[in-house]
Amino acid sequence: MGLRLGCIADDFTGATDLANNLVRAGMRVVQVMGVPEESLAAEVDAVVVALKSRTSAPQHAIGQSLAALRWLQAQGAQQIYFKYCSTFDSTPQGNIGPVTEALMDALQTEFTIATPAFPDTARTVFKGHLFVGDVMLSESGMQDHPLTPMGDANLVRVMQAQTRRKVGLIDYLAVAQGSTAIRERIAQLRAQGVGVAIVDAVTNDDLLRLGPVLAGMPLVTASSGVAIGLPANFGLAPSPTASALPPAAGLQAVVSGSCSVATNRQVQSFIDAGHAALALDPLQFMHGADPVAQAMAWAAPRLADGPVLVYSTSEPAAVKAVQAQLGVDAAGAMVERVLAAIACALVAQGVRQLVVAGGETSGACVQALGITQLQIGAQIDPGVPWCHSAARAAPLHVALKSGNFGSTDFFLKAFRALS
Ligand code: ADP
Repeated sequence: MGLRLGCIADDFTGATDLANNLVRAGMRVVQVMGVPEESLAAEVDAVVVALKSRTSAPQHAIGQSLAALRWLQAQGAQQIYFKYCSTFDSTPQGNIGPVTEALMDALQTEFTIATPAFPDTARTVFKGHLFVGDVMLSESGMQDHPLTPMGDANLVRVMQAQTRRKVGLIDYLAVAQGSTAIRERIAQLRAQGVGVAIVDAVTNDDLLRLGPVLAGMPLVTASSGVAIGLPANFGLAPSPTASALPPAAGLQAVVSGSCSVATNRQVQSFIDAGHAALALDPLQFMHGADPVAQAMAWAAPRLADGPVLVYSTSEPAAVKAVQAQLGVDAAGAMVERVLAAIACALVAQGVRQLVVAGGETSGACVQALGITQLQIGAQIDPGVPWCHSAARAAPLHVALKSGNFGSTDFFLKAFRALS
C-alpha cells in the first residue's frame, strides 16, 4: 500500500504524541528527527517528521515545514497532517497560521481544518474556545508559558490573527450531528470564502465523526486528537503488533526542563516518593562551575539505586526571575543546552531508559543524543508512548513528555510500564 499519512510536527514531543495516537489506531509508525537526507527504509503506514519549529521565526518554520512536505511527497504520502500542540502553542507571529498557509499553497488546496481538541488529555473545543480541563486556555497556566504564553481561548480569533485566509468555525451543532452535517457545514464555509475552519470537539466520538469527512482532504491541521479517526480511512484497525518494542535494560533517569503546572507536580511527586532528585539553578550556570560535571558527580553514585531526576523545573515566579536576568530566549536556550548535555552524560553512564519532560527540552536532548529515528511503542499516559532508538551503539528507550501531559506519578509509572 505504501505510505498513507505524512505528518509534520512542530516539536519533538508533539511528534511522538501524534505517532502514539496513530499507533493506537493501528498504524505502524516511525518518527524521524528533522527532514531525512535518505529515503524511507522501513515499511510503515505513517511517518512523523519532527521539527523544532514551534517557536522559531515564521520564515524559518515555513522553510522547514515545506522541506518536510517535499520529502513526505517523495515518499508517496497520500495525505499530509500538520500537527501542533493541543494548547495551540503559538507566538503572536505564528507559527500555526503561517505554516498552515504555506502548506495549503504548496498543496494547492483551498480548504483545511484546524483543531487542537484532544479529549483524552482534556483538551476540548466548544464554540471555538479551547478548554484545558475545566478552564479556558487563558486561565490554564498557559498564559504564563515561558515561550508561548496563550492569553486568548478564542481560537477563531487566535488563528485569524496569524492567517491571511478567512477563518471560520465548524461548531458543535454540526459536529454532534455527524459526518453529513459536518460536510454541509464545510460546503457552507467554503462558499463564504473560509479557508481554515476551527472544529469544535468535546469527545472522542466527535473526532471519530469528523474522521471520515477528512478522507481525501490533502491537508489536515490539528493536535494529535484528530489522528484517532484517520487510520480507518485507510482500512486500518487497532492491533497490538503495531506497538511492539525490543525489551528494556540498563539504568533509569529523568531529565526535566518543563515548567508547566503538571510537570511541577510530577517532580514533587517523584521527590515525595523518596527518589533522588537534583534541582538545577540557571542563575548559577553563569558563575563558572560546570553544571554538567556537577550534576554527574551527583548522579553517578546514585544511578545504581534506581531512577534519578535532574530538573530545572520551577514555578512561574522563579522562571520569570531567571528570564529577567538572562532574557527569555537566552535562558531557554541555555537551560536546554545544559539539560541536553546532562542527558548525554547520563547515557554515557549506562542509562538506557530515559524520560525527558518538556517539548523544547526533548528536542534539545534528542538532537544532542544523535537520535534520528524512533520506533513508536505503547502508550504510558495519553500523548506519551515509550519509544526505541536503535541507531546508537547502545539501544535506548526514551519517553518524551510534553509539559502538561501525564498523571502526577508519571515518572515512576513510565519505568513500571517498561519493566
Ligand atoms: P513544556 O513542554 O512544559 O512547554 P519546554 O521544554 O517546551 O516545556 O519549555 C520550557 C522552556 O523553559 C525551555 O526552553 C527551558 O529551557 C526553559 N526553562 C526550563 N527551566 C527554566 C528555568 N528554571 N528558568 C527559565 N527557563 C527555564
